[in-house]
Amino acid sequence: MAALARPNYVRVIIDRAIHRELDYLVPDSLAPQVDVGSRVRVPFRDRSALATVLAVLEKSDARGIRPVEAIVGDGPILSTQLLELAKWMSTYYCCPVETVIRSLLPQVVRKAQVGWKKQLVVHRTRDIPADEIEKLRKRAPRQAELAEAINGLPQPKLAAALLRQLSLDNQALRGLVKRGWVEVREEQVARDPHAEDHILPTNNLALNPEQAGALRIVTEALNAPDTARPILLHGVTGSGKTEIYLQAIRGTLDKGHTAIVLVPEISLTPQTVERFKGRFTDHPDMVAVLHSHLSEGERHDEWHKIHSGKARIVIGARSAVFAPLKQLGLIVVDEEHESTYKQEDAPRYHARDVAIVRAKIEKCVVLLGSATPSLESYYNATRGKYRLATLTQRVDEKQMPQIRIVDLRQERRKQKTAAILSEKLSTAITDRLEKREQSILFLNRRGFSTSLLCSECGEARNCPNCSVALTFHRQIARLSCHLCGHTAAVPKKCPECGKDALIYAGFGTEKVESTVSHLFPQAVVRRMDADSMTRKEAYRETLRNFRTGKIDILVGTQMIAKGLHFPNVTLVGIINADLALHLPDFRAGERTFQLLTQVAGRAGRGEVRGEVFVQTYTPFSPSIQFARHHDFSGYFEQELEFRERCDFPPFKHAVLITVRSGHEGRAKLSAETLVRRLRESLGAEFILGDAAPAPLEKLQGQFRFHILIRGEAIMRLSRLLRETLDKLPFPEDVSVAVDVDPYQLL
Ligand code: ADP
Ligand code: ZN
Repeated sequence: MAALARPNYVRVIIDRAIHRELDYLVPDSLAPQVDVGSRVRVPFRDRSALATVLAVLEKSDARGIRPVEAIVGDGPILSTQLLELAKWMSTYYCCPVETVIRSLLPQVVRKAQVGWKKQLVVHRTRDIPADEIEKLRKRAPRQAELAEAINGLPQPKLAAALLRQLSLDNQALRGLVKRGWVEVREEQVARDPHAEDHILPTNNLALNPEQAGALRIVTEALNAPDTARPILLHGVTGSGKTEIYLQAIRGTLDKGHTAIVLVPEISLTPQTVERFKGRFTDHPDMVAVLHSHLSEGERHDEWHKIHSGKARIVIGARSAVFAPLKQLGLIVVDEEHESTYKQEDAPRYHARDVAIVRAKIEKCVVLLGSATPSLESYYNATRGKYRLATLTQRVDEKQMPQIRIVDLRQERRKQKTAAILSEKLSTAITDRLEKREQSILFLNRRGFSTSLLCSECGEARNCPNCSVALTFHRQIARLSCHLCGHTAAVPKKCPECGKDALIYAGFGTEKVESTVSHLFPQAVVRRMDADSMTRKEAYRETLRNFRTGKIDILVGTQMIAKGLHFPNVTLVGIINADLALHLPDFRAGERTFQLLTQVAGRAGRGEVRGEVFVQTYTPFSPSIQFARHHDFSGYFEQELEFRERCDFPPFKHAVLITVRSGHEGRAKLSAETLVRRLRESLGAEFILGDAAPAPLEKLQGQFRFHILIRGEAIMRLSRLLRETLDKLPFPEDVSVAVDVDPYQLL
């Protein structure tokens, strides 16, 4: 690039939340290195602060302007496109730009404190003649052995790995260095979290006609990205969506472009990563992986691998939507309906929606995939805003599983333990054990008993900080709050009335595991949930044991609902399908339908047709009935009608404001004042509710009040909200959170 006029000033946003852009002078010595997207250190008040350059200016009207102190890192780290995205997010999600930038850049990159790891690498200075090695053999046999090995190396190798492999020590290596045969240099080496994985290369599969049709739609878009609409790939579980992603990515690479694949954190298993790494073995750094379990060093390396252009494909969870790839050609959002794409802290963004906006800015193609698309996306597809591609068949025409509904009200009359395991489900498990097939039992609730009640006074043991009952965990023999982590000893007597009348009520996965182990002593039963999977390797280990048939019955929470496939699983039991249905949330029906369909998709991926038992107290609820008949469009129609009637998304955007304080009265008063101000500023096009106690009134010691606003012009609403909030002086201990397109309504 030709050097243009030297930048004299820069406009920056500093990392602290001051909601203001500031100008600084650029000293001549730094001028060549400063550009839009650079990170700089600047004086701010009486300290210095890190900041991001938003613009380079020839003049500035600001007074008392001070010079930039230093450049952080080398070169701009945010592209102009990503900066544009940050500004859009700031407006849309009603959130300061600096908060957005904090989400966009991992901390290790922002602060530039961690660098590349340096390691010693062995280089051969020349081919070592065989006769010289022979001469060495007697005097220094270890050196000879090492020299022989080094002679055979196709490329330089890490000294530590080489010595470990040969069980030799440093002395032998030093000997060869002295002879001048080899050199040992300190070099940058990427910490590869998957270095130990054994990757089997794969090739494109021959697509079936439905898949070919879907890929054609994607290819058309890749050929004309400027005008392409987002594509929604609606394909039942096991229909081969991932194969389409893989071939679409190959098409993108062939054009010289790069690709991002977003998957929910929970589906980002070694299995998933291997499928991508195995297909793109062009060079070892082709695929970078971003997720929350990386060490700071690994994150630094993966990020710079992407930024430098070495990695051309990024696979990752939510925040990978910000991966700093250049020439972005394709963003895939797998399981686009997943609510974990929504970030619950500021900026409260939804990665799928951000992906669509980033695609628009970068003029690239976006491909959303799901077996159970979100109502919003499917609605967009039916109205022509998105292109729809559909896969109705499982690969190899395997049948969809048979779904059987078990009415717990009837079962309850027959037998006491029915609430956990009905007779029907229990018979089915016995049958699978006899046939040596595997079963999965699913319950979306951890712990042993969900509450400890006094049968005399009726009081439950509640969390002192939150308005929920404490769950009893048998493993740790304590009561625990699932919201704030508070734990308490189990009292012998009721602390309220002093009677010895405490009873355990409700059940979670821990109890299901124990009941099932009890009923089927011959079976190997394992549990997979956040409690049993605290060690990093435990997850891989349990999955491996399940895959190799060492486990007969796997009990778990949503951790086992997603993306895993095991050919020998022919039975899935959903212990309680009603859990989601009773939440005060307009998405409750949608969630239940999705969950049932997804969990059911785990059954019968092999040769035998799968069977799913859904235990429920509400067998006739529409989401259960539609899921049972694999009837997506029936469910969609009725759910859409409900949403329209109630002015909910996709017809109107929702914005949820939460006002919190440790002092109940101040939280309430602030919320009410805010509503009064909003009534003045918003106007009639928006539906503004009253301030009301949140369904979860108290959380982590804070009292919470909700204000729900609905409307169509979301950008305008966000701006008006920002203005109103900035003008209102809230008491010190009151905090206000704005959630645009909220997923958590509790
Ligand atoms: P989905 O992502 O829709 O759940 P997958 O992509 O995981 O489905 O496909 C399910 C299985 O079918 C995988 O093991 C995959 O390798 C295989 N598969 C996909 N497409 C084909 C094809 N065209 N021919 C043969 N096998 C295929
Ligand atoms: Zn709590």
